[in-house]
Amino acid sequence: MTISRRAFLGAAVLATATACSGAPLSSPTSTAPSPPPPTSTAPPGPPDWAALRAKLPGGLVLPGENGYDLAKQSYNPLFDTRTPAAVAHCTRPEDVQACVEVARNARIPIAARAGGHSYAGYSTPDGALVVDLRPMAGVRVDGEQVVVGGGARLMEVYSGLADAGRALPAGSCPTVGVAGLTLGGGIGVLTRKYGLTCDKLVSADVVTAAGELRTVSGDDDLFWALRGGGGGNFGIVTSFTFDTDPAPDVVVFSLHYPTGSVTDVLGAWQEWIATAPDDLWSNCVISAGSPPSLRIGGCFVGSEAACHQLLDMLPAASSVSVKSKGYLDAMRYFGGCTQRGVAQCRPEAEGGQLGRESFAASSRILSGRVDPAAVTALLDGRANLDVLLDSLGGAVSKVAEDATAFPHRRALASAQIYAGNADAAAVAEVRDGLGALTGPTGYVNYIDPTMPDWEKAYYGANLAKLRQVAERHDPDRVFAFAQSV
Ligand SMILES: Cc1cc2nc3c(=O)[nH]c(=O)nc-3n(C[C@H](O)[C@H](O)[C@H](O)COP(=O)(O)OP(=O)(O)OC[C@H]3O[C@@H](n4cnc5c(N)ncnc54)[C@H](O)[C@@H]3O)c2cc1C
Repeated sequence: MTISRRAFLGAAVLATATACSGAPLSSPTSTAPSPPPPTSTAPPGPPDWAALRAKLPGGLVLPGENGYDLAKQSYNPLFDTRTPAAVAHCTRPEDVQACVEVARNARIPIAARAGGHSYAGYSTPDGALVVDLRPMAGVRVDGEQVVVGGGARLMEVYSGLADAGRALPAGSCPTVGVAGLTLGGGIGVLTRKYGLTCDKLVSADVVTAAGELRTVSGDDDLFWALRGGGGGNFGIVTSFTFDTDPAPDVVVFSLHYPTGSVTDVLGAWQEWIATAPDDLWSNCVISAGSPPSLRIGGCFVGSEAACHQLLDMLPAASSVSVKSKGYLDAMRYFGGCTQRGVAQCRPEAEGGQLGRESFAASSRILSGRVDPAAVTALLDGRANLDVLLDSLGGAVSKVAEDATAFPHRRALASAQIYAGNADAAAVAEVRDGLGALTGPTGYVNYIDPTMPDWEKAYYGANLAKLRQVAERHDPDRVFAFAQSV
């Protein structure tokens, strides 16, 4: 079911509020959650912004105030028209607790924002209190673990880890937030070797709908939901603790093929990646055109010679590049998105602001091989649109489908449909065409406000348990948004 923005805001206003007992600004607790506070039928008062501002060392910005336009800015300029009720710059967990208390009592929408890369702009909703976690961006390596603030971006994490000779499997774009990425799963170039980002999560500090700060780990159902259940659904995570691996040197590669060879090469790529060693990760980018074109990229944890042997199993390419790189250089290389084939990720622009990009995108998940001729036909005669297949399998597939909330454990690849000209109608057509080949699947981190049957697409068989977790920890729907569980 797709809920309109209007319905969402209406539901948020009508939601039953919890009593304004004032959540304690406590240290994290790992005990079971307290029962939800008693509900009240008293009408909510307007948010007391002055009182909230007084509690926030980082500040609060309201519409009309200096800095509001910058404070509400997210990665995609399409969402610049959004008008949140306030943006709270949070420097400490207790700031987040104070925000949750205000939103709960005033019954206004609330949304956490880390990297601001939500495809649907769900971290910048109209009329909401935006909890900006960017000031909480610390990265502390502690032996084989790393503790990452809820507002850290990927390149901050990679840099901090590389200094200590450690690695975390995560995404490509340097300005994506580790929070949104991890909460939806986290697919990246080391995923087949080391797993999804969420697979490395050991514990998380999270502010719940009741305003409690809890440390969750192990068998806690909230911890289960935070690993793939999607950002924004279950609480606001202020800190993540991950296991890490020794930082590997990697061989990066890139192959270009002549136009007209898409069907043959896509067929061969699917066979190849299905049986490749876990040390190899690859993506296949098919660009719309007349005819479409294709390139293959990826990385290999091992020697250049062994990498060449694997690449020799693919059809002969018109150009091949193979280079050895240290861990951080490799992450920077992929962060430039030379492999993803689109200008999707841009490093920080001048002035400390986000590099930004207007785009529309959606996704499917390939549970197995799809008919390459049918994919080619979908992209033939179009322009400005790419389908990016990122291989899964390897370590991702060694985790049970119900062990975490991420359901696509047996999949061959994720498919992202990306239009740099933000042509949402074209994206939807290709998504639906691919859906006829893959079934109703999708990746929650490529969240699409018009995805048909989105709950099942994102969560599959884990949906029922996710709903139970949401109901248990957020009975009053404090964290509700258009595609909340
Ligand atoms: C250019 C680009 C490249 C990408 N590359 C990859 C990739 O390589 N691999 C991959 O898997 N994905 C990738 N993604 C998708 C990305 O993982 C999602 O868009 C993700 O949700 C972004 O997280 P964020 O923190 O940057 O975004 P935000 O917009 O800040 O947050 C996304 C969602 O999570 C919620 N949220 C944010 N912070 C918190 C928090 N601390 N606690 C609870 N909820 C929170 C928000 O409310 C929102 O609903 C990419 C996206 C873009 C735009």
